[in-house]
Amino acid sequence: MPRLLALFVPLFALAACAGTPASAPASPAPLHVAIDVGHSLAHPGATGASGTSEFQYNRELSRRVVARLQQQGDAPLLIGAAGDITELAERTRLAAGQQLFVSLHHDSVQPQYLPQAARFHGYSLFVSRKNPAPDTSLACARVIARRLQAAGLSPSLHHAEPIPGENRPLADTALGIYWFDDLVVLRTARQPALLIESGVIVNPREEAWLGSEKGRSTLAEAIAAGIGDCRPLLADPAAQR
Ligand SMILES: [Zn+2]
Repeated sequence: MPRLLALFVPLFALAACAGTPASAPASPAPLHVAIDVGHSLAHPGATGASGTSEFQYNRELSRRVVARLQQQGDAPLLIGAAGDITELAERTRLAAGQQLFVSLHHDSVQPQYLPQAARFHGYSLFVSRKNPAPDTSLACARVIARRLQAAGLSPSLHHAEPIPGENRPLADTALGIYWFDDLVVLRTARQPALLIESGVIVNPREEAWLGSEKGRSTLAEAIAAGIGDCRPLLADPAAQR
């Protein structure tokens, strides 16, 4: 028996060894993705229930998403973190050559709903049919939304309400994705693009979670993982430059 084993073990080891190079997964090329910090110091967007500006939330989340992307081997480009970009098209100009454009925001509600803001919560994603790649934009929005839902978040559907300022057509109701064709950064991006409203900061309870370490890391992890899921759908950066 020991002699038989001695015969089989080297053969088995050789077969396993010969199989290694072919079966080892090739590590994917780094994904070049623009992470756009929504708004600026001069125009900070919505104001949270606590008085903290949307820009501050967007910047904190964007930095965490960038860190997660770097950890997973991708090559993110952070846009607008200094808070000094006031022209929207400048953001998409800076993103030239990137494979994907993702703008990060935090949500509000229409002014008449502010007194009852506590009943609004959840994330929303937006894509544009005026983007050069609307289908890929929507496909990427879907995989990111799935990651958000897997992390326990739910979509907010309040942007579909048929009132002035909302009335956005839903591209995917279950996943909370809307068409917003004229959103400037989505329309002027030269690559697939989407905008994420991470949650509703005028809702005090939701704002507290969005501003917490747990909330930020949960969101950043889900968004970065979803961007990673989108990788097979995206063109090689060399072909876009
Ligand atoms: Zn915003």
